[in-house]
Amino acid sequence: MTYPWGDERRFNSYSRYFAKQFGGRVQKISIDAGFSCPNRDGKISTGGCTFCSNEAFNPSYCKPEKSIRQQIEEGIAFHQKRYRRANQYLAYFQPFSNTYKPLEELKGVYSQAFEAIDSISTLSCTRNDMASKALGKPEIVGIVIGTRPDLIDADILQYLSEIQQTHYVMLEYGVESVYDETLKRVNRGHDFATAEKTIRMTADYGIPCGAHFIFGLPSESKTMMLSAAAVISQLPLTTVKFHQLQIFKGTTMAEEYLEHPEHFHLFDLKEYIDFVIDFAERLNPDIVIERFAGEVPPRYLVSEPWMKLRYDEVLAKIEKRMAERDTWQGKMLSV
Ligand code: SF4
Repeated sequence: MTYPWGDERRFNSYSRYFAKQFGGRVQKISIDAGFSCPNRDGKISTGGCTFCSNEAFNPSYCKPEKSIRQQIEEGIAFHQKRYRRANQYLAYFQPFSNTYKPLEELKGVYSQAFEAIDSISTLSCTRNDMASKALGKPEIVGIVIGTRPDLIDADILQYLSEIQQTHYVMLEYGVESVYDETLKRVNRGHDFATAEKTIRMTADYGIPCGAHFIFGLPSESKTMMLSAAAVISQLPLTTVKFHQLQIFKGTTMAEEYLEHPEHFHLFDLKEYIDFVIDFAERLNPDIVIERFAGEVPPRYLVSEPWMKLRYDEVLAKIEKRMAERDTWQGKMLSV
């Protein structure tokens, strides 16, 4: 069976989205450009979101002491070993809040990526390993900027829409929950209305827009989480990423969890797989699902690391279970 997004996978996949955009597989290369976050530096608060641990998500090559070009080159080398079929990349400004500088400074940061993009794209492949030789020239096809929804304004969007004329640009917002009481409880420092307004503005400028959500935050029942699918489905989002709640060492949430584990409901793998499938059944089929779950090294976790599997193994289990249940993204919207 071919589904509404045009292939036989049971959800609207990120790989298909990129195949349509760029004609093949694309990998993101994380870049730490030394940004901070207003929820940590005192502008909004000093505590940060209670679950936040940027360290857990940063690949080893991604360090702010290195130039953007060096991080891009090392990122390409890293990914060419792991994903031998990829030769197209997106420079992904990932840790902290990557629009948290005045616009003129942002232009300087992003332009370093574009300069690297242009020069790397025209370099001959000089690497010795077989995979690089087989793939030919690596190419950086655009940038993805991760940030908070309260750190975007019309001037930034206007600038990004201009550079979008020549390079792919995507904005990726941490939204985490559609419920204000949850956002308050995890010290997010903005409400859902702010996220919704920013997502709509971004779409009005014609810029692809992604959003990140966490399942299992304290105070949310499964019914509340599933109800969020209807809210998310109304947003003009290009992509979504979902993560199961994982509790990281050194965070405020880790202290809360160690003191009161009974206040938390952490999904086990089997339960989570059925839950995200229930969620996907209620999600607008036009929205691309970039991720169903998070993957971090167990050494960063206080909570039980059920994700000893790699993400592609978890994804295979989710797709297998979707087939067993004979279901697909958006199924509940069409019955
Ligand atoms: S906004 Fe992002 S970087 Fe800042 S504290 Fe929250 S999760 Fe961490």
